[in-house]
Amino acid sequence: MIDVIVIGSGIGGLSCAAILARYGFNVLVCESHSIAGGGAQSFERNGYTFDSGPSLYSGMSYSPSPNPLRQVFDAIDENIEWLNYDTWGCCLPEGTFDTQVGASQFCEVLQQLRGESAVTEWRRLQEIMTPLAKAAIALPPAAVRYDLGAVLSVGQFLPSMLQNAIGLSQLTGAFAPVMNRVITDPFIRNWLDLLCFLLSGLPADSTNAAEVAFMFADWYRPNVKLDYPKGGSGAIVDALVRGIEKHGGKVRLRAHVEKVLVKNQKAIGVRLKNGEELRSRYVVSNASIWDTLKFVDFPKRFEQERQATPTCESFMHLHLGIDAEGLDSIACHHIVVNDWNLGITAPQNVVLISIPSILDPSLAPSGKHAIHVYTPGNEPYEIWEQCENYEELKQQRSQVMWKALERVIPDIRSRTELSLVGTPITHERYLRRHRGTYGAAIRATDGLFPSAMTPISGLLCCGDSTFPGIGLPAVAASGMIAANTIAPVGKHLELLKLIR
Ligand SMILES: Cc1cc2nc3c(=O)[nH]c(=O)nc-3n(C[C@H](O)[C@H](O)[C@H](O)COP(=O)(O)OP(=O)(O)OC[C@H]3O[C@@H](n4cnc5c(N)ncnc54)[C@H](O)[C@@H]3O)c2cc1C
Repeated sequence: MIDVIVIGSGIGGLSCAAILARYGFNVLVCESHSIAGGGAQSFERNGYTFDSGPSLYSGMSYSPSPNPLRQVFDAIDENIEWLNYDTWGCCLPEGTFDTQVGASQFCEVLQQLRGESAVTEWRRLQEIMTPLAKAAIALPPAAVRYDLGAVLSVGQFLPSMLQNAIGLSQLTGAFAPVMNRVITDPFIRNWLDLLCFLLSGLPADSTNAAEVAFMFADWYRPNVKLDYPKGGSGAIVDALVRGIEKHGGKVRLRAHVEKVLVKNQKAIGVRLKNGEELRSRYVVSNASIWDTLKFVDFPKRFEQERQATPTCESFMHLHLGIDAEGLDSIACHHIVVNDWNLGITAPQNVVLISIPSILDPSLAPSGKHAIHVYTPGNEPYEIWEQCENYEELKQQRSQVMWKALERVIPDIRSRTELSLVGTPITHERYLRRHRGTYGAAIRATDGLFPSAMTPISGLLCCGDSTFPGIGLPAVAASGMIAANTIAPVGKHLELLKLIR
């Protein structure tokens, strides 16, 4: 008998399955696609390995780490090789420059661009963020579970929560009020808006202060480095699958779940698209909340509330294989903002460029680079839903990414030997995501993210619809929380000891 079926092999679903397998449950992951990993999968074309999604990672190359994904790795005793770097290229309306994560280099950038008063404001922000950053990690998400066992698992962190009580009280709302206390400089405000947008798909007035505090705890401390997984994002997926399999679990690809089977208001398994029925004691859905609603006839009120969850927009992608000659000294990541006045969430305004083969040459044939350019979470699905000429629209809407890339590599078009354009329709189709969305756009001012629980007993959810801060740390946390809620509290407490 299968104990738990996890629908979907995104990092949320794999983290949940890995922790459940580690707890000793018999777990089966059913993934619709032929490649595991969801938004974090890697794919290969003509000798190039491309990341389909994430390019920015931190807190993965050391342990113990506050990053929940690293904690999952620790729990299942898996790791991969992490490549480190600290510099980003920035092409902003103010100019083109390199900046570094870490405590002080951004002050040099500010000194040059904005002068001494901006540096003073940034230092003041760092001061007020220090206790908030401590508070943000006072209660690890790994301790959370949605039953009475939380008294014991969360309870053991009470002393550190009490020590950080003042900080914690400021973390429940949006980041903007914290920022407004000390930052008046328009460039710093725009920069913080950008960081918030990258973290949550929302600007500073809607991003949860805890997410920003967590990022400050990691990025702006002395001697910090950012991480990149050797082998690309697929290496993370492979490590999680290894962890599941070595603890007796299974990941089944091309296994599209059509329905969750329910008897007496209790989930009892799933029906696949091919008609096969699989029985289990629990089902965890890693599909987005809108996609999960298609699995069962939920009570009307729950369905209406969840269906109304606001969505972030989608993505445009450009995957390129290029001639790398003479490009050894450029940064592996670049961020391009066209116009601050349009607002950070405006379509086609922000472009991210990732050239991971600078760090890991194995991702491209010798003498070549693999590049992933994307517009993060700001491409409207509507444009694509109604389009009459898909190929023409692809060409037209991808120009913003080519132009951004020309600011970093001026002769990019003549260097290119392979180019693939992805759209919200690609996202919807290959990542099985409702309207190709980046995730739930729940504003910090509008309340909490929905929990892992549903009104159907034994049916839980994980993934980016259930935990604030779209991104791998957040979805790994959501997976752990769902797994903990299913596990006996004694096993949960043992695991907490291990990852601490
Ligand atoms: C372009 C891009 C860049 C990003 N950059 C970063 C970054 O730099 N850093 C970072 O931390 N995060 C980043 N993210 C966000 C991060 O990738 C996502 O938040 C995360 O991968 C989402 O994981 P998930 O587990 O919630 O769901 P998903 O990855 O969406 O996985 C859900 C899985 O469920 C499967 N599924 C759905 N329906 C069914 C069904 N009926 N039957 C079976 N299987 C089903 C899907 O096929 C999919 O595999 C980025 C995302 C994108 C798209």
